[in-house]
Amino acid sequence: MARRKLVAGNWKMNGARDANAALVHDITFDSKRFPGIDIVICPPAVYIESVAAALSGSSVQLGGQTLCEQEKPGAFTGEIHGGMLKDVGCSHVIVGHSERRALYGESDALVAQKFITAQTCGLQPILCLGETLAERESNQTETVLARQLAAVLDAAGIQAFKSAIVAYEPVWAIGTGRTASGEQAQAAHAFIRGQLARANAKIANSTRILYGGSVKADNAESLFANADVDGGLIGGASLKAAEFLAICAAA
Ligand code: PGA
Repeated sequence: MARRKLVAGNWKMNGARDANAALVHDITFDSKRFPGIDIVICPPAVYIESVAAALSGSSVQLGGQTLCEQEKPGAFTGEIHGGMLKDVGCSHVIVGHSERRALYGESDALVAQKFITAQTCGLQPILCLGETLAERESNQTETVLARQLAAVLDAAGIQAFKSAIVAYEPVWAIGTGRTASGEQAQAAHAFIRGQLARANAKIANSTRILYGGSVKADNAESLFANADVDGGLIGGASLKAAEFLAICAAA
């Protein structure tokens, strides 16, 4: 079964109203050239509503960068409920990004809860998995990926992956300019798909697995050409319209 490619832009904590307007203008104008893929952009939460307005009429979709694990809104100062992301126009939300795991102490269990809450709120989670350099160098890559994925699979169940996206993001490749080779990406993606297939081969075969970590216009094609790479989660390069669009063209 052919999986439709998806390119998602994670703006992280970058942007300002004027810059966003220019970026979104350029992306929406040109995104019409890519009717065969899904494009999702994930701005900082405070800008989602204005970006949604700028995207109106376009097929580009919106995602949050994280959400609160709580299933109901309430007294959780500073947090953002999944229903609020949905309310301002999001269809997706990133969960378990390595920056959230490493800098904000998000455990596998918390990531699993966020994944479940996202779906309860009608959002498609983009679940990030990935090993550190030390883990790769000590041959722990598969152990780490299996552990991170199992936490979500055990809590949410395989059926939940019918409306979820996975992103393989080796930590050593994020923001470093050092990209996984096509072979490294393919091996990790095939391993993740294999883990899903142990629970349900059909769902595993239809789940999109994105690659993230220093994807650029000049390496996107060689990454996306691999059988189990279904698109990308793009950080730095999603902040420049021409670069982001060139990545979309490669998908
Ligand atoms: P990068 O970030 O493309 O800047 O390496 C990817 C990500 O963190 O999702």
